Amino acid sequence: MSLDEFSIIEKYFDQQRVARDDVILGIGDDSALLKVPVDQVLAVSTDTLVSGVHFFQDMPPKFLGHKALAVNLSDLAAMGAEPAWATLCLTLPKVDEVWIESFCSGFFELAEQYHISLVGGDLTQGSLSVSVQIHGFVPENEALRRDAAKEGDWIFVTGSLGDAGAALQMLKGQITVSETEREKLLKRLYCPQPRVALGQKLRGIANAAIDISDGLAADLSHILSQSRVGAMVLVDEIPLSEALLSSVGAEKAKQFALSAGEDYELCFTVSEDKRQQYAEELDRLFCVCIGKIEKESGLCLQNAGNCVYDLHQQGYCHFSQT
Ligand code: ADP
Ligand code: MG
Repeated sequence: MSLDEFSIIEKYFDQQRVARDDVILGIGDDSALLKVPVDQVLAVSTDTLVSGVHFFQDMPPKFLGHKALAVNLSDLAAMGAEPAWATLCLTLPKVDEVWIESFCSGFFELAEQYHISLVGGDLTQGSLSVSVQIHGFVPENEALRRDAAKEGDWIFVTGSLGDAGAALQMLKGQITVSETEREKLLKRLYCPQPRVALGQKLRGIANAAIDISDGLAADLSHILSQSRVGAMVLVDEIPLSEALLSSVGAEKAKQFALSAGEDYELCFTVSEDKRQQYAEELDRLFCVCIGKIEKESGLCLQNAGNCVYDLHQQGYCHFSQT
């Protein structure tokens, strides 16, 4: 006999693997009771992954559990916040305990890594969808906001861009790549590593920040419009992985980096003074300078090869008219 709603919650989700003093009451009551540090503000973010829209139905559940939390952690990272608690709203077509157990292993492994406590949620029957809300703390004046870029700031990105976008095209059968590269690219799409520690290190260094979920051009454009500035990006400086370069070549790789999403790296801006002061730190954190904030609005892409980049399909936009 399959388990009912409450037995599933008790068996799989109500497992206090992370003990936190600031959780007065966790799963089991009508609401959780949580204590926010007196000297900080609460940073809250939520993201939903819907089957057939954000992931293919056959995505291994362990990765889905990881990714549902990772994309939320990435949002807190982009604010410079320290994650603390999460809630999980899961809609499942049926009770498949093997599936739930695997989903939970991916979710809780990442939660433990960042000392996050699951404090509540909801469980419903319907088309597969996962919604996580994440809560964290940040000192009010140190949060990294999208509206704080200044003319003359340098633009940096972390890690490398474009791998996840290439992996998505690979799954759709639009490109073919060798077996070893396939693994590497797929790992970036299925198992993103949010830049949580780095985001917190950027407090006091970066002016504005955003996480790259919809492609560099689309996400940087959010910083530009909210900060009422423009930018020049040197496309040839965008960091690209060996796996991506050897799979699709340099020009296509740059296109992926600019307009394909789901990398979950950070894009942030740093004043000239801070860039000099923290040059070594930025280097050590593998942050790469790719351009500069300018007074004139708009995003200008420069490259040596006179390549024209197709930015019409910037990122993924729900409800957009095509
Ligand atoms: P209510 O009916 O008051 O909304 P529920 O019966 O849905 O409460 O849930 C009972 C308890 O289990 C609540 O504390 C809720 O936060 C928690 N919960 C429900 N689903 C999940 C889940 N998927 N993950 C974690 N906690 C959950
Ligand atoms: Mg309920």
